[in-house]
Amino acid sequence: MNNYDFLVSDISSIKGIGTKTTKLFKKKNINTIFDLLWSLPRDYTDRTQISKINELQLGKVQTIVVNVEKYSFPRIRNLPNKVICSDETGKLECIFFNSYEGYIRKILPLKSRVTISGKISFYKNKYQVTNPTHVSTDINKIKKIHSSYSLTEGLSEKKYLTIVNSVLEKLPDLDEWHDKSVLNKFQNISWKESIQKLHDPKNINKKGPFFDRLAFDEILSSFLISSKVRKSIKKIKKNKKKFNIDTANFITKKLNFNLTVDQINSINEINKDLKSNQKMFRLLQGDVGSGKTIVSLIASLNVISSGFQVSLMVPTEILAQQHLKLAKKLFPKNIKIEILTSKTDNKERKKIISDLSLNKINFLIGTHSLFQDNIQFKKLGLIIIDEQHKFGVKQRKKLSDKGGVNCDVLVMSATPIPRTMIMTAFGDMDKSIIRSKPRNRKDVITYSKPDNKINEIILFIKKLIKIGEQIFWVCPLIEESKKLDHQSSIKRYEILKKIFNKKVGLLHGSLKKEEKHKILTDFLERKIDILVSTTVIEVGIDFPNASAIIIENANKFGLSQLHQLRGRVGRGEKQSYCILLFKSTLSENAKKRINILKKNNDGFKIAEEDMKLRGYGELLGFKQSGLHSFRLADPVLNENLFLLAEKEINRIENNDTDLNKYNTLLKLYDRADILNDLV
Ligand code: ADP
Ligand code: MG
Repeated sequence: MNNYDFLVSDISSIKGIGTKTTKLFKKKNINTIFDLLWSLPRDYTDRTQISKINELQLGKVQTIVVNVEKYSFPRIRNLPNKVICSDETGKLECIFFNSYEGYIRKILPLKSRVTISGKISFYKNKYQVTNPTHVSTDINKIKKIHSSYSLTEGLSEKKYLTIVNSVLEKLPDLDEWHDKSVLNKFQNISWKESIQKLHDPKNINKKGPFFDRLAFDEILSSFLISSKVRKSIKKIKKNKKKFNIDTANFITKKLNFNLTVDQINSINEINKDLKSNQKMFRLLQGDVGSGKTIVSLIASLNVISSGFQVSLMVPTEILAQQHLKLAKKLFPKNIKIEILTSKTDNKERKKIISDLSLNKINFLIGTHSLFQDNIQFKKLGLIIIDEQHKFGVKQRKKLSDKGGVNCDVLVMSATPIPRTMIMTAFGDMDKSIIRSKPRNRKDVITYSKPDNKINEIILFIKKLIKIGEQIFWVCPLIEESKKLDHQSSIKRYEILKKIFNKKVGLLHGSLKKEEKHKILTDFLERKIDILVSTTVIEVGIDFPNASAIIIENANKFGLSQLHQLRGRVGRGEKQSYCILLFKSTLSENAKKRINILKKNNDGFKIAEEDMKLRGYGELLGFKQSGLHSFRLADPVLNENLFLLAEKEINRIENNDTDLNKYNTLLKLYDRADILNDLV
């Protein structure tokens, strides 16, 4: 058995683990030896201080050295067995429930001197230890600092420790995968020694080269896997797409604005990819409202004009409808556009699927059901994925494979990922970034108000409506839920309808397709002034005439989510407003977070600040994404390690380093199991 096989072998292969214990471990999701190594001690118990009986502290774990004086084994059911012990200062009783006499005689031999460690209680004037587990005639076996792990019923600490320690002792030496220069930064500590140190109770809550090395292993393996994905996609040779500049001009002539420099640069980068014979695998990143849609539509028309089909995937029906409308407006009339979502009826669906396979549809917009179904395009040339937070490396790779050799891939995201996370989240892709917003934009002014001041807000929006502006009003839930203390959108809708003369619409996820469509059209055509909605408007929706957004129970949202919601306004030239409503009692931390939002209009900055405040796990789009979760590495606390890994991956790629030496690292750390999919 080689070292890798040993580490991934089943937990039952450890000596002393039977079927019963194996089951207990599996219940804790520890299936292999490697899993066991990553189940870290949560705390430790210091059993090194030896106390005398007369100085024992109650309720604490204490260690004592005593003489075993007398047994008391009553023959009456339910009465515990007792062993009386003593030192020169007093007496102590060991109480045993459900333990056999034979066992007790073995661990506490009469007249012997034993070391006992356990929690001390006091009962009927006597010191007691109940069911002591740490007992030995050899003081050195007890007088130690013991790691404590999360246990499960039936798995004693003693047993767990024996098992972990036996594995830690047998840990194999793995061939070093890191370059000397890297290893040097971690005082040349090996993987094996680092793992052993990680479990050493002395090191709990401590960091050092051992921790950094292991965290770096995680980061680099994630980067390397992305790099492999990228390479495997770049290897694919596709047919070059041929189109000319007039195609894009057809669209830009219809716009009432000029593209920003970043938009133009992004289009150029995308065009270069489309025209090359390497498959495009590109991320278009830009904050909310930065104008990604138009870039993707220009790319789409280019691809269509070169004779290929394009498919655009969006997360919601509403967004699909909106993109459809825009595409119909901007594309030449002869381009055939269709929309396919979970709401499309069966007959229509069949027709669309058949038309796609015959190349009678050029541009298909749909929700992600697109790729779950068995849809065959005749000549798919580009897949665009808009606002898909949940897409990780594995899903993207699958999608690219599914699209076929000639299919380029463009992912668009407003998920504001801090710099250190970009490599982790999108290391497999090339990137185009839209940093600047259109020049006509004014920053959204953000207020926060306690919700008992709602009348002031009504007055404020009355003024806005009077001058022809429109308003979003966001409520977190559809139905009243006292438990969560959320405002119901229906209730709010009823109230506002009375105040605003019925010029109010209600939008939530469970409306029928036609109803949604009607309300959105009404809002667009200004038949209604206020759109009350749940967070369905969060992603992507574009109504440039809306200039204020009210968000109820704002403290229930993450900062980045609030920023996304706020991004629904401030999309035109007008001054826009965002009003955050709160319950009057806000914690200090909540106030801090709101201030971040008030002071910043840049999603990346907000994400970074939010991450510092709450830790990276809470970041919008990151937690949901299933992209990657690290066991040790933390993008906030270990920024330097992320930067080091970025440097190292560049060095590895530029030097064409043989990746084989990283095989064990990659196989051990590939948590998405993506390596199996790479050929
Ligand atoms: P997002 O990047 O969030 O997807 P959109 O593509 O929906 O943003 O664009 C937001 C709004 O900005 C739209 O109304 C769009 O027409 C407008 N827009 C896009 N590019 C420009 C530009 N260069 N100048 C002015 N307005 C623009
Ligand atoms: Mg968008």
